[in-house]
Amino acid sequence: MFKRLRQGLKRLLGKGGEGAKPLQVDDGVFLQRIRFVERGVAVPAKAILLVVLLYLLFVSHWFVNLTMPQEEAWNILRTFFLVYFAVNLGASILFWGMDQVGVRVLQRVVYSLAILDAVALAALTLATGGYDSILYWVFLGLIIRNAAVVPYAEVQIMVNLLACSFYVAAGALERVLKTTDMELIEGIGRGAVGENSAEMGREPAEQLILRLMLLLLMTACCYGLQVLLDRRRREEIEAQEFELKQHQLEAAGRLAAEIAHQLKNPLGIINNVAYSVQRAVRDNAAVAQQVAIIREEVARSDRILTELMGYAQLAEGKVERVQVPEELDRAVEAAFPPGIAPGIRVRRDYGPAIPALLGQRGHFAEIFTNLLTNAREALGGTGEVTVSARATPEYEVEIRVSDNGPGIPAGTIPRLFEAYFTTKEKGTGLGLAIVRHNAEMYGGNVRVESTLGKGAAFVVTLPARSVMRMRR
Ligand code: ADP
Repeated sequence: MFKRLRQGLKRLLGKGGEGAKPLQVDDGVFLQRIRFVERGVAVPAKAILLVVLLYLLFVSHWFVNLTMPQEEAWNILRTFFLVYFAVNLGASILFWGMDQVGVRVLQRVVYSLAILDAVALAALTLATGGYDSILYWVFLGLIIRNAAVVPYAEVQIMVNLLACSFYVAAGALERVLKTTDMELIEGIGRGAVGENSAEMGREPAEQLILRLMLLLLMTACCYGLQVLLDRRRREEIEAQEFELKQHQLEAAGRLAAEIAHQLKNPLGIINNVAYSVQRAVRDNAAVAQQVAIIREEVARSDRILTELMGYAQLAEGKVERVQVPEELDRAVEAAFPPGIAPGIRVRRDYGPAIPALLGQRGHFAEIFTNLLTNAREALGGTGEVTVSARATPEYEVEIRVSDNGPGIPAGTIPRLFEAYFTTKEKGTGLGLAIVRHNAEMYGGNVRVESTLGKGAAFVVTLPARSVMRMRR
């Protein structure tokens, strides 16, 4: 709850990083709400109220009969409402031409207006009886209006809590002004005023608490409703994302499988023919050697195609919610089966609150296993591998696999992720290419950091959601 409030305050002040939000509504919903609530209801309603208010303040002087009699205070109030009128006029023009205005600007205007409205209402409350003012009921309406126009639960609760505190402040200020005024006008002894004030403080205390509770209850209800709406929306978007990913992966998988399958047949024929030729030219060592090279290359191509088909099969799998620490543990077990490298120590360092990834388990497993296998092979039997995972503020998961092996020469680094690049005798050169491919397929990326002689670290960043990365 406090975390949400902090987030809300950050966003209200415009400090939320571009991607630093877990789930939010998209711009379309926000614009729709501005169009309907602000432009359709609030602007016309405020226009009428403001005309009446300005008439009462400047023409009829109706307020003068109410509380807050100091002349300076009245001047301040009048000036404030002139500014308030001008700001609202500007905002109304902006809302009417909102199709030409950026969402971010509209967002700031809506937040500022919500706060300004609360200040204006508090000022009127102060002038019309403080805690006893009939305008208290308008605060309830204001809270509902804020809930209807601000679709971000955290911002909404911040704005509404501010409105509640303005009501309290207006009431308290009214009390102070009244007490001072009584002292000044009546000039009576402190005791009498003290009694009077004590009476004033005691009598409406219960009523005030009730009123405040009602305001807070309304704020909490609106917040709860927004959280529920957010949750439902998240489920809908997640379902869409599941379906989209499934389709994308199936399509890519089908193509890869088809190509691999088509190429395997001619390769088999080339291999058979080469075998026959090899037997026929047994006596000619030079030709036999050339044919042997052909067969070796055919075998290598076949291995690559087999990997590709395996990969294609993966694309037939299901999209699911993958917990990164769990998947990393599995990959460590796969890359370091018991007894394979007793001299290598594997350290795990998983941060808190790592969001789940949406995708096919096999794709993520391939990324992690390939990196861990490379680290194991680079260490050649002794050393340390560290696997760490953490959540970034951009709602991504950063996975780091590092080793204290020989490291990678600077000249080799640009070629590392190229398919078929390998420095190993029996390597296919596909491991890192697949790592990059899989990471990019999910909107992520991979980078390498290495100091020759000290080790290498591969850092994979994967967005916890792709379709849902909202723009604001
Ligand atoms: P393969 O493992 O089949 O060679 P990869 O694409 O997985 O294919 O790796 C390409 C090359 O990157 C490797 O041959 C190796 O030279 C280098 N490499 C990968 N990981 C490491 C590592 N942790 N330390 C040093 N070199 C590495």
